[in-house]
Amino acid sequence: MLTQIINGHILTPQGWLKDGSVLVDDGKILEVTNSDLAVIGAKAIDAKGMYIVPGFISMHSHGGGGYDFTDATPEAFQAIVQAHLKHGATSIFPTLSSTTFDVLRQAVAVCDELMQKPDSVVMGLHIEGPYLNKKMAGTQWGDFLKDPDPEEYIPLLESTQCIKRWDISPELPGAHDFARFTSGRGILTAITHTEAEYPEIKSAFEAGFTHAAHFYNAMPGFHKRREYKYEGTVESVYLMDNMTVEVIADGVHLPATILKLVYKLKGVEKTCLVTDALKYAAYNGRTIDDSRYVIEDGVCKLADHQTLAGSIASMDKLVQTMVKSAGIPLADAVRMASETPAAVIGVADRKGTLQKGKDADIVILDKDVNVRCVFSYGKMVEGTNTLIH
Ligand SMILES: [Zn+2]
Repeated sequence: MLTQIINGHILTPQGWLKDGSVLVDDGKILEVTNSDLAVIGAKAIDAKGMYIVPGFISMHSHGGGGYDFTDATPEAFQAIVQAHLKHGATSIFPTLSSTTFDVLRQAVAVCDELMQKPDSVVMGLHIEGPYLNKKMAGTQWGDFLKDPDPEEYIPLLESTQCIKRWDISPELPGAHDFARFTSGRGILTAITHTEAEYPEIKSAFEAGFTHAAHFYNAMPGFHKRREYKYEGTVESVYLMDNMTVEVIADGVHLPATILKLVYKLKGVEKTCLVTDALKYAAYNGRTIDDSRYVIEDGVCKLADHQTLAGSIASMDKLVQTMVKSAGIPLADAVRMASETPAAVIGVADRKGTLQKGKDADIVILDKDVNVRCVFSYGKMVEGTNTLIH
């Protein structure tokens, strides 16, 4: 069915377009035009002066709606996807935290099955760990952590096309071989939970680590050893011009000043917004049932209250934080949640911008940056009929 979205500020790759329209047909964007004259035969959707922006790409989230992706069942995957979709995440790369290879294989099977369905919101799998530096990973994954083992990861990667991203600590023995193998297969390979300094980050980048997971979190910045000073992972990543980063912009994991600094130094095209959300994201205020965690100050902490365990944010919350707390223009905040992650993880041919021929994944935001309407492949999955003529 032909649909025409009118009367909003449309975010195009060239900037905001007013008094135009987005034409949608058969799940795709047919045209973004500067005319809002009614198209004969089209169902009109009135955006009532709000912002019409591309759907968000969630490239790092562990769960939501009460489920974790390591549950590795179709039920869990679908519940998490639905919870985040309502908040504007029209593409999701489910993240598996450190676990056994049996669980990874099970999750691969679920992911492969879901990706074969038409109009899939699940676009591929993201694995974080289990190859992590124990010193930087805290206690939450206990016995799962180990050094990269090609006998394990090569058969898994050869069994499926669905793994699109894998994050490990670059300083572990065998990590560079791992990165050469994964990046050679087109898999986004990221550093995470690391204490690497500049020489290590430089050689890791050359081996294929092109992205830094949850930048600033689980990695040191500038520090002293005895009387001398050293750059941390943070400064080293800044020095790698072509290394992309992601920030957990929930307003808790990083202060607004640091969000501004990342925006200023890395810029819109190298910075992605991620939730790193745990199962209690998009949980609508229900109480939690896991003694390892507490929810406090709008974030999930380990039960000792000393360490953040992950966020409970959804993608819309990140854009809202960038605009309202960090003072970043809405267009740039949206691009860091849509266009940039689409390019970084390799789906920019179908996703990430409102352009002719791309999937009709569209979000309507009000002036307070709240999601009012979500379209996934042209179908309204969240929103009210008050927007429709
Ligand atoms: Zn994570």
